[in-house]
Amino acid sequence: MQLDTIASATMTANRAVFRCFRGCPGEYSVYDVIYTCPNCGGLLEVHHDIDALRSRSADEWKQLIERRVGTTTWPYGSGVWGMREWVMPDLRDENVVSMYEGNTNLFWAGRLGEQIGVPDLWVKLCGNSHTGSFKDLGMTVLVSVVKQMMADGSPVRAVAAASTGDTSAALAAYAAAAGIPSLIFLPSGKVSTAQLIQPVANGAHVLALDTDFDGCMRIVKEVTKDNTIYLANSMNSVRIEGQKTVAIEIVRQFDWNVPDWIIIPVGNLGNISALYKGLKLIKDLGLIDKMPRLVAAQADKANPFYRSFLNGFREKVTIQADKTLASAIQIGNPVSYEKAVQAVTETNGLVEAVTEHELANAAARADLTGMYTCPHTGVALAALFKLVARGEIQSRDRVVVVSTAHGLKFTSFKVGYHEGKLGEVESELANPPIYLPADVGVVKETIARRLQR
Ligand SMILES: *Cc1c(COP(=O)(O)O)cnc(C)c1O
Ligand SMILES: [Zn+2]
Repeated sequence: MQLDTIASATMTANRAVFRCFRGCPGEYSVYDVIYTCPNCGGLLEVHHDIDALRSRSADEWKQLIERRVGTTTWPYGSGVWGMREWVMPDLRDENVVSMYEGNTNLFWAGRLGEQIGVPDLWVKLCGNSHTGSFKDLGMTVLVSVVKQMMADGSPVRAVAAASTGDTSAALAAYAAAAGIPSLIFLPSGKVSTAQLIQPVANGAHVLALDTDFDGCMRIVKEVTKDNTIYLANSMNSVRIEGQKTVAIEIVRQFDWNVPDWIIIPVGNLGNISALYKGLKLIKDLGLIDKMPRLVAAQADKANPFYRSFLNGFREKVTIQADKTLASAIQIGNPVSYEKAVQAVTETNGLVEAVTEHELANAAARADLTGMYTCPHTGVALAALFKLVARGEIQSRDRVVVVSTAHGLKFTSFKVGYHEGKLGEVESELANPPIYLPADVGVVKETIARRLQR
């Protein structure tokens, strides 16, 4: 084993293939245009050859990955491609479409943690990324796979996705970087201005449809039945392979120690499935010996997974999701339901749901300690506050909240909050600008009054 190099010796020996998540027999190439099991219609999952991966010891893997973090040796400096043997082992270098995604900082939320009595609180800032959300982690893998498919003569000529805003931004950017046309289906008027303009700027064909996300999903599924357009939604389990690296990255950032809890806002349930898959992989390879408890956080307005949890996961609940400030998780029929049930049950996890009022005030409270949180991160933080209040999360626990997008994408959410204009929200921490005449006396008086409080 060559430990003095960051390239991989096992790369060619090791192979990843699609298998049915429900366990039907059969294997399919990850470079084929196939999204669901031909036998049962369920989701596929990328299966790695664990025995081949065990040819490196846990310590050798840790050292290899640590040596790659942040380097400029293509493509290993990326948080995703630094783990390439675990992600897409037989993808050729020339097909990697990377913008050095991942390696996001783990913000020690000490001040907020002190306030709520959980000082070992961390926020994984996945929004500090190329297009401002964790969706970059999956799209680098998906677009790279498509590039290899096209290089090898596949009929695919474009990529497409329905989106609540961040998927499309990431897909459009990576497709533009690769020179591959992209088609974006957005629910008209239901994404933020920043999210709408991102794929527009990146040259995507942006189709704003008069429906919600689930409606866009139905249409994109029809459009991609023609195998020349590749579906980039999270029912495509290739994306999960990139997204799972964030869980491994969190553990590495704690020197390979596992936190007690990871709390994540969920919509289509791909990301929580990805966290579980990443953690399970490094547990199987002996890098860790326990799992964190995973908490899925939802908005009350779009809470099908929470309802399923309340019925003991006896059956999948599907709803018509109502409008929520957490627009990226306004989903009523989550695609990765079965995978997420596994993620929660196998980690002794929980599902929590929060109101608009709770999510908006949680986001504002975090901002007052220096963060700049998106509404989805507000959902996860509000869930944290509830679990602490209920005594589920205890003061000595180490907790990681996954911040899924950058607050700068959600300016009207912030403005609305501080102007006290959000529906169903009482802005308890509003801090609007103070408009004054340009008069030193008035200004000094105002400062004195403000600093007294
Ligand atoms: C996509 C997204 C989510 C939800 O992830 P799922 O995989 O759909 O559960 C949460 N927050 C943000 C900001 C997102 O863009
Ligand atoms: Zn099947």
